[in-house]
Amino acid sequence: MMMAKDKNEANKEETTLSKTDSIEDGTKDNPDIQNNQEIKKEARAKVAKSAEKDKDEGREHIVIEFKNVSKKYAHGVVAAEKCSLIIKIGEFVSLVGPSGAGKSTLIRLLTCEERPSEGRIVVAGRDITALKPNELPYYRRKVGIIFQDFKLLPKKTVFENVAFALEVAGVPNSIINEKVPKIVEIVGLTKRIKALSEELSGGEKQRVSIARALVHEPRILIADEPTGNLDPVSTWEIIELLFKINRQGTIVLLATHDKEVVDALQRRVVTMRDGKIIGDQEHGKYVL
Ligand code: ADP
Repeated sequence: MMMAKDKNEANKEETTLSKTDSIEDGTKDNPDIQNNQEIKKEARAKVAKSAEKDKDEGREHIVIEFKNVSKKYAHGVVAAEKCSLIIKIGEFVSLVGPSGAGKSTLIRLLTCEERPSEGRIVVAGRDITALKPNELPYYRRKVGIIFQDFKLLPKKTVFENVAFALEVAGVPNSIINEKVPKIVEIVGLTKRIKALSEELSGGEKQRVSIARALVHEPRILIADEPTGNLDPVSTWEIIELLFKINRQGTIVLLATHDKEVVDALQRRVVTMRDGKIIGDQEHGKYVL
């Protein structure tokens, strides 16, 4: 709370300062402006100091930080309770736990579909709980998400489904026509680019939804039970694709019930139960 206030104050200072920056001659004798310049200098020094401190503490690679986050719904349901979690650049994290444990709540908090009742969530240095409604679309583009039920437009082609995510963001057609085939190629669907999504297999549909999630080059890809509707072969193909995306630098947060997948991944496993994070292992297994 305190820090959010500090940030607002800093923003206010920046706004005032940039106004004074445009004033050229005669400003040196003005004590108010000199004062502002001092404030600006101090603010810069503060930022530099905290960046230095982050470096010393090994925090400079942190992309996502949940700080004591709780989410309480009506009728006393506590879906998340004092959850603290740090995710760094390049990580592949499985989020596991029984149904009702709070996994989807944590994801909805990260995508800003829900606001926490308590605590802060900082993503890439910004407190996302303080984002204004007009900032949300920009934030959400940097957080791609895929679901168990794909959420594709069935009567549209693969190309159109992927292009749609760019169209709604106001991207011009020339760029869409260039970008979509490249992304479709990454997910291995070039030969099916003109097929209607309702004609595709489950595995192919999930590839389309991954392509759609990648159009804005997100820093984080959230996969919410992505293999829940897939056969074992498609499951492994999708996991392989998520690995490929992760190797290219995108954080992957995989919420899943699939014990076999989690155990085979040999990556970090965060376990939830009753709204709490009860386990966090570097090379974990699915334990309930
Ligand atoms: P999971 O994804 O692990 O299955 P959820 O995050 O969906 O768990 O749910 C955690 C708890 O919060 C459950 O008890 C669920 O019933 C409750 N819950 C989730 N969403 C809401 C909501 N919108 N209103 C009230 N309770 C909710």
